[in-house]
Amino acid sequence: MHTKTIVELAQGLKNKDFSCVELTQYYLDRIRQSDLNAFITVTDELALAQAQAADDKIALGNASILTGIPYAHKDIFCTKGVKTSAGSKMLDTFVSPYDATVSQKLNQADLVMLGKTNMDEFAMGSSSENSFYGAVKNPWNRLKIPGGSSGGSAASVAGGLSCFATGTDTGGSIRQPASLCSITGLKPTYGRISRYGMIAYASSLDQAGPMTKTAQDAAIVLNVMAGFDEKDSTSAEQKVPDYTTNLNDSMKGLTIGLPKEFFSSGLDDEVANHIMAAVKEFEAMGAIVKEVSLPNSIYAIPAYYIVAPCECSSNLSRLDGVRYGYRAKEPKNLEDLYLRSRSEGFGEEVKRRIMIGAYALSAGYYDAYYLKAQKVRHLISDDFKKVFEQVDVIMGPVSPTTAFDLDSVKDPVSMYLADIYTLSTNLAGLPGMSIPAGFAQNLPVGLQLIGNYWSESKLLNIAHQFQQATDYHSQTPCKYKTVGTNR
Ligand code: GLN
Repeated sequence: MHTKTIVELAQGLKNKDFSCVELTQYYLDRIRQSDLNAFITVTDELALAQAQAADDKIALGNASILTGIPYAHKDIFCTKGVKTSAGSKMLDTFVSPYDATVSQKLNQADLVMLGKTNMDEFAMGSSSENSFYGAVKNPWNRLKIPGGSSGGSAASVAGGLSCFATGTDTGGSIRQPASLCSITGLKPTYGRISRYGMIAYASSLDQAGPMTKTAQDAAIVLNVMAGFDEKDSTSAEQKVPDYTTNLNDSMKGLTIGLPKEFFSSGLDDEVANHIMAAVKEFEAMGAIVKEVSLPNSIYAIPAYYIVAPCECSSNLSRLDGVRYGYRAKEPKNLEDLYLRSRSEGFGEEVKRRIMIGAYALSAGYYDAYYLKAQKVRHLISDDFKKVFEQVDVIMGPVSPTTAFDLDSVKDPVSMYLADIYTLSTNLAGLPGMSIPAGFAQNLPVGLQLIGNYWSESKLLNIAHQFQQATDYHSQTPCKYKTVGTNR
């Protein structure tokens, strides 16, 4: 049951093979028995009530494809009446008084929320080890990280604890954990999904998206998540197409760009082989492959690790122990209240980034750091613009290696290097996807697809066609094989 996609579960509910209450209870039992630490909060009662409402709706014949599908929600989305911690001690007792727009839309679609997933504190990290609630384990190998920051969401889908999950991606946090856990993850164009009520990390980069078993499921969930929201001034007034309509378009004549910078030293050989094998699959379907160049992408790490800390230092300044969140005990005066609430409430990595950001934004340094990083960002966007004049899609790896050992990367800069292939997409605001592309050292490898602005339909179509030709996406942690082609 837990290996079924949205499409399959919806069929089962419709046929009355099982009720939504039974399905939900089944998932809740699996979550309880799981050792993955994928959830911060499990919302049993709420889930069963939503399941009952869904069963009623199905009985009346009013169901849509998403009615009653159990999902896991990243703990960065505000959920009315439910704890929303963003993986931080700072918000450990915070119960949101309102719903994020995404939460509201998922509720309106009659979905069943099983709980809130574990994540790196305030989405800062690439391994889900920076959580106040402890590290998440990779379902494929419990000694490995699941990726981050949406590691709880990825582990939940791969480990069969939910049918799908939500994630957010500021610099790779949907795509990288999707890649390391062998699921499908989509980060849409910046502005495609409302950020209202999504706890802000770096506002000019943050974007929500679906984390699913298949591209078809991702299209179904994106249909609900996407759209303009007057409560988010950066959400785009762009029409939402039906993302499921073009899934079966042919790959004949599709031009694929392989950026030479994405295949340089530092990329694991076996990962590279899997990426090239995936590209060959597309050639067999009639696609044309070209080498392209994104010369400024080598500056993505330094530019991102200025922009993101600057924006987070500003966003997190609201958490000062006064209005809500963690408050230090018996403060001596106001300054002591601020100082100790923030020192005690934030974790190491978050504090490091607040300090970097505050420094880089201070008088006299703004031009040298933030402004300069923004200029580099432009150069990176311009590179993509030129490449998209020649090709329809860019392909490459998501992560330079497969999942690394838990507790093995101690130095923050080495951790930042894990983001080398994902950051430039966010800096440019482009959509990107990760889809399962095989296994190296018995661990998943993800293929990255990067498209032009608003090309989510195209990316989903490409991903779906790959999933028609291969079966990597349907391998599960207990049963997998290393060759996955159906050809
Ligand atoms: N790993 C990156 C960071 O730590 C990206 C995280 C994200 O996308 N939220 O900032």
